[in-house]
Amino acid sequence: MKNAFIEAIEIIEKIELNGFEAYFVGGCVRDSLLQMDIKDIDIATSASPEQVQAMFDKVIPVGLEHGTVVVVHKGVAYEVTTFRQDGEYTDQRHPDEVIFVKDIKEDLKRRDFTINSLALNSNGELIDLFGGREDLENKLIRTVGNPDDRFYEDPLRIIRALRFSSQLGFDIDENTLKSMKKLKQEIETVAVERLTNEFTRFFQGPFVEKGLHYLISTEIDRFLPIFKEQPNLLRRLPKQISSFVSFAEVIAMFHYLDTNISIQEWIRSWKCSNRIKNEAINLSEALFNYEQNGLSDWLIYRLNRDYLESFHHLIELLSKEQYSLAELRHRKDQLPIQSRDDLAINGHDLLQIFTDKKAGPWMKQMLETIERLVVQRELQNTKNAIKEWILCHPPETN
Ligand code: ATP
Ligand code: MG
Repeated sequence: MKNAFIEAIEIIEKIELNGFEAYFVGGCVRDSLLQMDIKDIDIATSASPEQVQAMFDKVIPVGLEHGTVVVVHKGVAYEVTTFRQDGEYTDQRHPDEVIFVKDIKEDLKRRDFTINSLALNSNGELIDLFGGREDLENKLIRTVGNPDDRFYEDPLRIIRALRFSSQLGFDIDENTLKSMKKLKQEIETVAVERLTNEFTRFFQGPFVEKGLHYLISTEIDRFLPIFKEQPNLLRRLPKQISSFVSFAEVIAMFHYLDTNISIQEWIRSWKCSNRIKNEAINLSEALFNYEQNGLSDWLIYRLNRDYLESFHHLIELLSKEQYSLAELRHRKDQLPIQSRDDLAINGHDLLQIFTDKKAGPWMKQMLETIERLVVQRELQNTKNAIKEWILCHPPETN
């Protein structure tokens, strides 16, 4: 069994000692069989959330209504969820009610794809009720049970199929794919936040080209925010696409491909956070600046360091010139200043130089000009050099 499981087994053993069943389930089992890194370990158990809470010292009740608590063991968080079956998805947005069930079989049956419905017990034995292992070997995404029923129950699964194809590079089983095409309009009933979450991972997938191929050939995009009004947008993507770092990067790319759709509109339609909005704006400004002036120091200065990797990926996708990420980082490190705070002069100094002037917008303008000159190495960042420049370029206003 993989190392990552070794500490987690102690949780399972403790639950078993208390007379309940517990298994590793979902993504961690799939990824360990694929010899991939395991992101987080999920555990399914016959014990109720309250019973789990009573067994461990450090438990966070993150989603009691779904039967989920987080057990913190040796500094690592594990989601422990009581065996359950999902109620009818009447509004197709959220599972209506959660019905707890007695055994793991029922719990595995509610899961979306065969490769996600594998469980592992504390002896390392695999519970594979739906041929998940074979599908893993054949690299196939296939629903547990009848695809029409499963997609109708929760149409987000249609997008999840695309997401796993992009993450794992797997094909989608023929019947599953047929059903995705048939029921694609149901996607419109899904809460947008859930779509955004899946599409973020979709675009991060190492096999995003494969995912995009499915997305385009099924025309599922016709039922997605913005894409539904812009049927050509996806088809305008460059031929070769590699994985994105963030959803903000995806937005910046599409805004670059079609400036008629503003970043604000992307953020509103996909219900993104302010953090994503600011990142998309910063990246987009850098892209347009790059298009006009190439890779200038000013561009690199204005671009947030955390987004250098995204920017690097975007220019790799959208332009012919190539720069290595290391080169971009180096240029950022070598800038004369990293922020306006690093300037050798500030507003207070300006008022001391121009004693006859009152504080006002002229100060901001002047500092901006100085900032740009210093970044572009046209002016030395010393008090004397800047003072000299200021005296030769006094502000026009009073
Ligand atoms: P990742 O490692 O990328 O997070 P994952 O398989 O853990 O992949 P999650 O979205 O975290 O994916 O879901 C955990 C598990 O819960 C899945 O493996 C699947 O068994 C089940 N699951 C999640 N969402 C659904 C859904 N909409 N319908 C049915 N089962 C689901
Ligand atoms: Mg997961």
